[in-house]
Amino acid sequence: MVEVKLDLREIKEGESRKTFVIDPSQLEFPQEELTFQGGIQGDLILSRRGREITVKGQIAFRANFSCSRCLLPCKKTFTEEISMRYLKGSPKLLSGESEITEENLSTNFYEGNVIEMGGVLRDIILLSYPVKHLCKEGCKGLCQNCGQDLNERDCGCPLAEIDSGWKELKEIA
Ligand SMILES: [Zn+2]
Ligand SMILES: [Zn+2]
Repeated sequence: MVEVKLDLREIKEGESRKTFVIDPSQLEFPQEELTFQGGIQGDLILSRRGREITVKGQIAFRANFSCSRCLLPCKKTFTEEISMRYLKGSPKLLSGESEITEENLSTNFYEGNVIEMGGVLRDIILLSYPVKHLCKEGCKGLCQNCGQDLNERDCGCPLAEIDSGWKELKEIA
């Protein structure tokens, strides 16, 4: 796992900025069809108030993928917002006194002086990467019958054949 660490001994009280670039291979992504172009860039604003650290900013990355409908290779730049709060200790100890001041700010806990952000970044990227990714909005995809790319031209296959296929599926179910 990659080392994207916030070391409390290096974070000043108040606001400070942290930028980084990570090699995506270090984050151990499961999807083989997701291939990155270049590094994952982060630009964060850290706000420290004693042992509470708020992290806000953006990560950006460029990835190659195949369109889910027409299988055309595409590229896209993804930009994701980060908004996290880190508290020292364990959730149990703090459950009584912790107050969520801002909604949709997710709270995490750390021990010692180091906050490890690799896992969080990995989750954000996985969630941002849509299950169905299209080359363009409204991509018509491939004909299920002959494989023609319907964005290029209409193949003229009778729709009835595809319909009967659906009927058979229904009967089996
Ligand atoms: Zn497509
Ligand atoms: Zn066709």
